[in-house]
Order: sequence, then C-alpha cells, then structure tokens
Amino acid sequence: MIITKNYRLCEWSGGAIMVEPESYGRCPVCGNTNLKYRDYCRRICREIDDVTKCYIVIRVKCVRCGGLHRILPDFMRPYGQYSEKAVHDVVSGRVHAEEVIEYPCNITMSRWKNKNH
Ligand SMILES: [Zn+2]
Repeated sequence: MIITKNYRLCEWSGGAIMVEPESYGRCPVCGNTNLKYRDYCRRICREIDDVTKCYIVIRVKCVRCGGLHRILPDFMRPYGQYSEKAVHDVVSGRVHAEEVIEYPCNITMSRWKNKNH
C-alpha cells in the first residue's frame, strides 16, 4: 500500500470518484520506483453519520519484487473505512458521541480514542 499526497480526484461512472495519483512513488517492500499500472478497485470511505463515498483506487505492480500495491490518497486510512478526518474529529473531541446520530457506533468511537490515533 502506498499513501500519496499528490493526486487528482475525477468523476467516475456511477457517482464514484477516481483517485488519480500524479506519480506512483516507490514500492514499500523493496523501494523500487519502477511500478506498472495493474488495475483498479473500488473502496468506500465513510464520514461521520454515514456519508459514504465510493472511490476508485488504482493498483500497481512492482517490476522488481512483483508486489501489488494500492495507491491511496492521504485522507483515507489504510485499514478501516472511515476517513482520517472522521477519526480525528472524534479523537480530538470536535465531534461528541451524543452528536452522532447513527454512525459510527459508540464502540467504534471508543476504540479510536483508546488507540490514541
Ligand atoms: Zn518491490
């Protein structure tokens, strides 16, 4: 998995948003910069109160070690569906549990706080 700060967001069919990285960066396994486009996959990203957006992220293959890596924009968290901003708002106390109507659930929010993200 490669996280990038430099990307463009483009409209995609079905209301999805394409994440188009300016460059592929380097392989997180072996450091090689020769990465080839492989394919793309869908990935959802949720905000507080279940505003869910669907993104198209691309996968690249490392020519040297053969590793497959998704290129994610920096507002996504590598594991977990909620955005960096959603987690930050809860952990920092900007959003209080009582204000959240439905999602994320209280268990999820306290897990974020305890992990001290
Ligand atoms: Zn590699």
